[in-house]
Amino acid sequence: MTKRREFIKDAAAGLAATTIGGVGFVAKSCKPAPKVEDQNLLKKNWQEDPEWKKLKYGDWGGPGVPSKAGPMDNILLKDYAPRSSIITQETFVEKAKFPSIDCHVHIEAKTPQEIDEWVKIMDEVGIETSVILTAATGDEFKKLVGLFIKAHPGRFQLYCGMDLTDTDNRNFSKRVVDELERCRESGACGVGEITDKGFGFTKDKDLPKTQRLHPDDERLDTFWKKCGELKMPINLHMADHPSCWTPLDVFQERTPDYQLFNLYNTDALSYSELIERRNKTLEKHPETIFVACHLGNQGHDLATLSETMDRYPNLYLDTSARDYELGRTPRSSAKFLNKYKDRIVFGTDMGREKNMYRIHWRLLETGDEYIPGRVSWRYFGLELPEATLVALYRDTAKKIFNI
Ligand SMILES: [Zn+2]
Repeated sequence: MTKRREFIKDAAAGLAATTIGGVGFVAKSCKPAPKVEDQNLLKKNWQEDPEWKKLKYGDWGGPGVPSKAGPMDNILLKDYAPRSSIITQETFVEKAKFPSIDCHVHIEAKTPQEIDEWVKIMDEVGIETSVILTAATGDEFKKLVGLFIKAHPGRFQLYCGMDLTDTDNRNFSKRVVDELERCRESGACGVGEITDKGFGFTKDKDLPKTQRLHPDDERLDTFWKKCGELKMPINLHMADHPSCWTPLDVFQERTPDYQLFNLYNTDALSYSELIERRNKTLEKHPETIFVACHLGNQGHDLATLSETMDRYPNLYLDTSARDYELGRTPRSSAKFLNKYKDRIVFGTDMGREKNMYRIHWRLLETGDEYIPGRVSWRYFGLELPEATLVALYRDTAKKIFNI
């Protein structure tokens, strides 16, 4: 019997094999995925499938009562929202315990008035500075400098993007460096968010695999080197949550809300290949700081992530959009954050709503239990010690951005 953990690992590597709906299939990107509409899958009585039972109930083996047909059989997974009966501590945390820097936001306001509103929200929840990952270059970047940095000194920092036009041109390597230097002069403190979910940085799904621009491509060597010289960290989004590389079937870890991110059975590189290419880049450019966002998309496997952190001192992380990884494993996550607090920065990547910030403070600062989460999992508070909060919220970011 394949263990869930191994299943995810293998599937992410494009290796998992299992039997679904009585049809043997191999979870390789070259084989068609079984469609959920497949009549065999819909008709199958999953309650009798040993692998399904094991995944659903673990060693309990079943629900412990005879299961009967009833009205709930017609409820769709996308509609299921259980009302919890639990009565336990619920802490409202209005403001972060220490001044905080949000190191992963995007352009959440466009007009001076909207930006004023944003600053007011930052004041109310305890965000001292927001680091905007603009992905912009040229005049567009300069305009943002005026709107944000000049209008609100100290409240915003801006990352610029990369000029990714015409990457096949032999001038590309020089052009991308020249533009970086111009953005630096205009006020950029880092680069990002640069994303590779398996199609390369240009995200062009029609490009043949051999022509895609991945981070370890030699066309980017001078660019990464220059980022290191200019002390500009790169916010790098490599791969995605590993469940994206597993089929959208009864074993899919995530609920339907997240199915649009699924990459199974596409031409994208595998999860493990993307992580490997990131690691190769870290090794090739030891003087450059890479902030792997979303806990490096490895928040589900903190042991492997720890090994990687130990191997590459230039690897930093942001916590953005991985509240659910921290919240579902509060003890190991707290240990991890305590250990690597000087290399992890706080980030959100979820807009600028007050409640969004307050739920983060509740998650990180309190010991509240069974907190409703964004995905189907409930969260448990991490109760982080003050030294970790201070580093995570502000000090580590100050150190790497020289601010
Ligand atoms: Zn982002």
